[in-house]
Amino acid sequence: MTTALITGANKGIGYETARQLAARGITVLVAARDKDLGQAAADKLKAEGAQAHFVQLDVTDEDSIARAAAWIDAEFGSLDILINNAGISGTYGEKPSTTAVASLRRAYETNVFGVVAVTNALLPLLQRAEAARIVNVSSEVGSLELMMNQDGPMWQMASIPYPTSKTALNMVTAMYAKELWDTPIKVNAANPGYTATDLNHNTGFRTPSQGAEPSVHLATLPADGPSGQLWGYQWGGGDVEYGPLPW
Ligand code: NAP
Repeated sequence: MTTALITGANKGIGYETARQLAARGITVLVAARDKDLGQAAADKLKAEGAQAHFVQLDVTDEDSIARAAAWIDAEFGSLDILINNAGISGTYGEKPSTTAVASLRRAYETNVFGVVAVTNALLPLLQRAEAARIVNVSSEVGSLELMMNQDGPMWQMASIPYPTSKTALNMVTAMYAKELWDTPIKVNAANPGYTATDLNHNTGFRTPSQGAEPSVHLATLPADGPSGQLWGYQWGGGDVEYGPLPW
């Protein structure tokens, strides 16, 4: 049995990631902070024939992370795939010069510190799997190179909390990849592309199902696949839909 835990799996890209992994025969652990929303998402997947279990997990709550890890240990003894998908946009669009430090802290609590807390709590279970995969759902807006391209679609954006939290997440990804370089575990960051979800008031031009594809790809990489990459949707990539992106 292959198991995958997806944080923030009650809706949006996380839910679609769970659905697509379940369709490949993977047992999905639908992690969500809200019990009712998470249970409803797991039930919906089960109704479609998935092996799905709800796990209560708030990435900013160390106790809930510890409880989730203990439950997975007792139920399955190991974990094959971790998808750190939960994220918030925070005060997206606010100019750097008027950004409150509190907004920055909020974004980092979920998008950066939450990922480290969840990964460290689940790493012992991932290390018990044959060849685990860790996917951090990041974004092209965390790429310094793409953000500073004056001819690219990101040039118009100038905001601190969300983009810099994803830049930090990219480096977090690289650091775990380095620590685990000589092990079978691969750690990569996914770029879903601009996807219509609640995060952006459904303004994205990609569907949640499309947004989930990079996470699913990185979660199911073969043994000779990459580690320590930002990989996914190529905005303005011409005929190429997916590939590695610059940090
Ligand atoms: P979404 O529909 O708003 O989903 C976000 C999910 O994260 C929800 O399930 C939410 O739970 C959960 N979450 C937020 N804070 C949490 C916490 N403290 N603990 C546990 N779960 C928490 O947004 P989405 O677009 O699918 O976002 C998924 C990931 O994709 C995020 O990391 C986001 O940054 C990334 N991403 C999105 C886009 C895009 O265009 N949409 C582009 C690039 C990257 P609740 O329902 O309880 O709030």
